[in-house]
Amino acid sequence: MSIEIKQILQKLNTNPKKKLGQNFLINKNKIKKLTSEINKVHYDSIIEIGPGLGAITEELIKNNNIICIEKDIKLFSYLKDKYKESQNFSIINEDVLKCDLSSLGSGKKLFFGNLPYNIGTKIIGNFTDSFFSDINVTGIFMLQKEVGQKILSDKGSKLYNGFVVKIQTFYNVKNVISLNESDFWPQPNIKSILIKLENKNRKLLSNFSYKEYTKFLYNCFKVRRKKLSNNLQMYFTKEAINDNLNNLKLKQDIRAQDIDDDTFLKLFKDLTDSKS
Ligand code: SAM
Repeated sequence: MSIEIKQILQKLNTNPKKKLGQNFLINKNKIKKLTSEINKVHYDSIIEIGPGLGAITEELIKNNNIICIEKDIKLFSYLKDKYKESQNFSIINEDVLKCDLSSLGSGKKLFFGNLPYNIGTKIIGNFTDSFFSDINVTGIFMLQKEVGQKILSDKGSKLYNGFVVKIQTFYNVKNVISLNESDFWPQPNIKSILIKLENKNRKLLSNFSYKEYTKFLYNCFKVRRKKLSNNLQMYFTKEAINDNLNNLKLKQDIRAQDIDDDTFLKLFKDLTDSKS
């Protein structure tokens, strides 16, 4: 498969671009596994980020409506031409970080991508910010293993932080498959992981502010070795913090890394209520 890719790139008079994270998936078994994971559910639209030369698109297009976002003009033009007859395919030549993700697709949507490694975290962050309260949107992303493991980490782990809690507050995160360096061409010097993010359908109160919750989590983890109460004392009174920790049966000296997402959400609500 890497020979095919090399030939296409040669025809297009281009080479894999490191700065665009162009490591193409060449393991056909892994492509099968990931498409069968995607095909378990019917989506009205699949939005693929970074289709590259279409190794995965080719499988997905058999059963789905696909919208691709590709930054590389040569790869964009190649796919646009290849699928010009397909009714269920469209492609945008844009930087995904500049796209309004919520304007893409309709109905039950899947955002999918073998993501460029250098912007994987940013893309997952934008995805969460755009769809945290939308039960109709699922994410399946291939990422650098370390980033995936972080998003999957549990309380108590060194990897667990405010960004992770934010994702876990709104999504059930599942590890789907692991990938090795040799599954890609050119070979990256890192392993990868495929994760699935399913919306938890949280019942949020009408006065819930996602922006404030994000800030709250950031502050909770501001200095990791500090107690949670010390990290929060600039924003709430000591009394309010202690009362609310007590109500949730949390120790006064607890640290942010020992609290799960359900408890964080309750603590945020209670502390915010106690302020008003
Ligand atoms: N999906 C293909 C595959 O699995 O073989 C290619 C995956 S490759 C890891 C990442 C792809 O994302 C490349 O096609 C690259 O050009 C594209 N890309 C990189 N940065 C991008 C950005 N900011 N917006 C959209 N696409 C981007």
